[in-house]
Amino acid sequence: MPTHYSLGLIGYPLEHSLSPVMHKAALRTTGLTGSYSLFLIPPLPEGKPLLLKLFERFRHGELQGLNVTIPHKEIVLPLLDDLTPTARSIGAVNALYRDSGYLVGDNTDARGFQTDLATLPLTGEKKAIVLGAGGAARAVVYVLLQEGWQVHVASRRADQAARLADTLSDHATNGAGCATASLLDAISLRERLSKCSLIVNATPAGMSPHICDSPWPTNLPFPKDACLYDLIYNPAETSFMRFARASGLPSRNGLGMLVEQAALSFELWTGQTVSRDAILSAIPDTYQYESRREV
Ligand code: NAP
Repeated sequence: MPTHYSLGLIGYPLEHSLSPVMHKAALRTTGLTGSYSLFLIPPLPEGKPLLLKLFERFRHGELQGLNVTIPHKEIVLPLLDDLTPTARSIGAVNALYRDSGYLVGDNTDARGFQTDLATLPLTGEKKAIVLGAGGAARAVVYVLLQEGWQVHVASRRADQAARLADTLSDHATNGAGCATASLLDAISLRERLSKCSLIVNATPAGMSPHICDSPWPTNLPFPKDACLYDLIYNPAETSFMRFARASGLPSRNGLGMLVEQAALSFELWTGQTVSRDAILSAIPDTYQYESRREV
């Protein structure tokens, strides 16, 4: 067991990340010694030399764990030595660990979302719309398909949504799940609304500082019994969630998923189970207030 855990996060930008606060709380509560650093790596190809250097340090044992965030979750795959079956199926990673000198990519976003999904006030048929088709959307769609949902993926580049639906449809279980795809616009979404019980925002639209943005087309009403889940947690209540509240629908932000993926990453690196409450209570109240609200 290392005497000092050197952990960190690669992404761009990183200034508003809650990961240092969460992982420092995890170190404190488990009584382990360590640090959690931010590695600002510009998008590839510009950031590639920096990334390769960091990965070499990781392989040599200078680091014990790394999280991966926007914009690197998919693009780093070819630079890793191996992937867990979950990460391979999803095609995106958010947690890296070392195994016998090899750099392995895992995806704890999926289990993070799955844990929070189980707590949502869902009613009706298992029909979902997922907005966005990036790394986080891949984890969300994977979980929903595994749990027998019919999923429609909508993104502003229809080809990206189609690719996601194509590559993940194989993971549908129970014969019930399947994924379809379209452009993220009112015309395409209108015909998907019937019996839809869950809408997930997996785009950054509405994230601070662009808090007035929303991925949902203006003037398109939400399905009447849907629950809305926004992966964003900053601000605590996004425009998308505010529109849900105005329509009398329950909504949730991504804080629960964030805490769970962090706890799972920490467990992967240290082998220690960590209290989710200890992590949650280290996060400033401003992120927490609205996340607990349900209409
Ligand atoms: P990503 O790989 O960059 O993918 C983002 C997706 O959203 C892409 O399909 C992108 O399309 C689309 N998009 C970007 N801006 C948009 C806009 N203004 N309107 C409509 N679509 C837009 O990012 P990601 O890693 O999937 O993350 C997505 C969001 O989830 C971020 O806000 C991130 O913070 C959040 N997240 C939260 C958690 C959590 O634990 N709560 C975990 C992971 C991610 P283009 O490719 O055309 O830009």
